[in-house]
Amino acid sequence: MPYRNDHIETRLVHAGEPRIGGAVGMPIFQSSTFVDQGEGSYHDIRYIRLNNTPNHLALNAKLVALENAEAALVAASGMAAISTSILTVLSSGDHMLAQNCLYGGTHDFVTKDLPKLGIDVDFIDAESPGDWNQKLRPNTKAVYVESMTNPLLEVADLEGIVDFARQNNLVSLIDNTFASPVNFRPVERGFDLSLHSCSKYLNGHNDIVAGAVIGRADLVDSIKHKLDHLGGTLDPHTCFLLHRGIKTLAVRMRHQNDSALRVARFLDGHPKVDRVNYPGLESHPAHQRARALFEGFSGMLSFEIRGEGAAKRLLKHLTIPIVAPSLGGVETLITIPALTSHSGLSPQERHQLGITDNLVRLSVGIENAEDLITDFKHALAELP
Ligand SMILES: *Cc1c(COP(=O)(O)O)cnc(C)c1O
Repeated sequence: MPYRNDHIETRLVHAGEPRIGGAVGMPIFQSSTFVDQGEGSYHDIRYIRLNNTPNHLALNAKLVALENAEAALVAASGMAAISTSILTVLSSGDHMLAQNCLYGGTHDFVTKDLPKLGIDVDFIDAESPGDWNQKLRPNTKAVYVESMTNPLLEVADLEGIVDFARQNNLVSLIDNTFASPVNFRPVERGFDLSLHSCSKYLNGHNDIVAGAVIGRADLVDSIKHKLDHLGGTLDPHTCFLLHRGIKTLAVRMRHQNDSALRVARFLDGHPKVDRVNYPGLESHPAHQRARALFEGFSGMLSFEIRGEGAAKRLLKHLTIPIVAPSLGGVETLITIPALTSHSGLSPQERHQLGITDNLVRLSVGIENAEDLITDFKHALAELP
């Protein structure tokens, strides 16, 4: 595999670059169809929806190199990558085990859509391997986890999940959006499929929606066939934007890793902050595990602020972070999960998950970290 031995910074820039016509930047192939060259199978016909334009092939080659995998496939969104992968791995009558605090869209898909297709899902506490065996059924086919959970930034026993999947012949899937390939490469640790919302760190500029599946060649091939049928194809112009965004992933991610740790340390020592959730802090319950698995702890953190209504007031006094959903881009974004991503849950359900009304989630961008800390210092000083 080309570039396998180079560092990720080099692979991000140079892997998957066909240099067509000598072009240094990957051009956009804005053509829906391509001249017939005697392709044998339906899935090889060269047509945009069949995910095989030069823009798709170049991106797939780059993504494969980033996680040292066998194959990769870009999709129209993170949810297209996730739903198409799950629908490929599981059929009517099958059963899946999933981590109990999934990304909201995934949680809704597995609890609302899969049962209607005859696919059952049970949730597991991915921290407690002792309980997983009891949830196994003869028809269990897959186990699904996330590299870091939203919004509490928990890091599950991911090595335990891989062993459990191998022992029980399950396909292991992991949503690696929050870590990014710079910080964690699940396939190197034995996962079968690594899934991404490329709308977040991989593209990094808060300006597109895209997804990816990276992993075992046989599985990725079947997922491509399903994607060809379901139609969740990324268009060539968005392929171009994602391709360009990926080249700077390592410089962005390292800066974000570093800034998030500094902001987390500042908040951790502040008298108006009750608790900071960031796997890079020594006080995080899974800090040692995260150190062993990850090369960095990402730009995502959350914290609880003291006092009734304090979270909302804090957001009003901040000048740099933008109050908006999503994450992983160059702009620092901030949200209150109880009012946004988790507002669909009842207060009791949120309480059970540990998501209080005073919990604030921060996606640290690439601004100067000292400027961010100063902004928080001033905003916190405004609170009673
Ligand atoms: C955003 C996100 C998704 C969904 O991705 P889209 O590109 O919005 O479809 C899935 N998983 C995680 C962890 C995410 O943050």
